[in-house]
Amino acid sequence: MMDRYSRQTLFAPIGVEGQRQISDKHVLLIGAGALGTGNAEALVRAGVGKLTIIDRDYVEWSNLQRQQLYSEEDAKQKLPKAIAAKNRLQEINVEVELVALVADVTAESLEQRIKAEKVDLMLDATDNFDIRMIMNDVAQKYEIPWVYGACVGSYGLTFTILPGVTPCLHCLLKKVPLGGATCDTVGIIAPAVGMVVSHQVAEALKILSGNMEDCRTKLVSFDLWKNQYVALEVQKLKDLNCPSCGIQRTYPNISFKNQTKTAVLCGRDSVQIRPSSDGERNLTELKTILENQGLPVENNPYLLSFEIKDHRIVAFKDGRVLVHGTKNINEAKSLYYRYFG
Ligand SMILES: [Zn+2]
Repeated sequence: MMDRYSRQTLFAPIGVEGQRQISDKHVLLIGAGALGTGNAEALVRAGVGKLTIIDRDYVEWSNLQRQQLYSEEDAKQKLPKAIAAKNRLQEINVEVELVALVADVTAESLEQRIKAEKVDLMLDATDNFDIRMIMNDVAQKYEIPWVYGACVGSYGLTFTILPGVTPCLHCLLKKVPLGGATCDTVGIIAPAVGMVVSHQVAEALKILSGNMEDCRTKLVSFDLWKNQYVALEVQKLKDLNCPSCGIQRTYPNISFKNQTKTAVLCGRDSVQIRPSSDGERNLTELKTILENQGLPVENNPYLLSFEIKDHRIVAFKDGRVLVHGTKNINEAKSLYYRYFG
């Protein structure tokens, strides 16, 4: 155990003191897909003090090609990603405090979490732009650094946002192409993920070990298939009138209650429905009700699922329901009300 971090402490910019600082820090990781699992594994191996992982999804077979913490068994069991990741990570390093949350990130929930406990760094590993904008406002309001990361196909993009120092994501929005295609429409190759993860983790180690001055100030974008790598100087894009980081801030992405109850998920032919009232769902009771209707229900402690005709329906303990096999919100809602209304 003593030698565990020896190669990292031998690295002069980190050293023994940097390692001590890393072991004292709390990182909030949003998303446990390809970028999330890569970031999580590297930070846990590096000996971060505490890692909180938030993810709303469960492991599927199509994830295994690039989401490095998951196994076939996780996919068979449809384990929530946050839980499967935590299980694997704890095997890798028992010293790290791990918290797994199977939940959606909303403006309210993220702000509550940040208020409730000290968070030293946020890592973006979501594929959802709305959630990134929420992270961006929360980061500015509570002065928490965060590292933006995105990838699709063989292309990747990453930027480190230091409140009060660099432009924020909102400043860059209209001036820099931040991507639009989603993961499932054009596919993705694992090395593109690894490249973004490497940039994010290197920045995380600088921030966590107290080497903020070494942080990258440029926005990096690359395409591993087309052999392109660009580091774009964006400091002059910091906008004094920015609603998220400017002089008169309104934090537009967290200042009103997010009313959205349904969302079509990232090119996945799926709709998520989030009930208006918060509260846990009793999965045992629900299973009995559904089985009494003759439905073949599969379940684990975190979710239950069943198939009807062309749809697979998954109900989570936190109340959310995923309807697979449609992008039509009305169709998904009618199924939701039929079985859960
Ligand atoms: Zn800004």
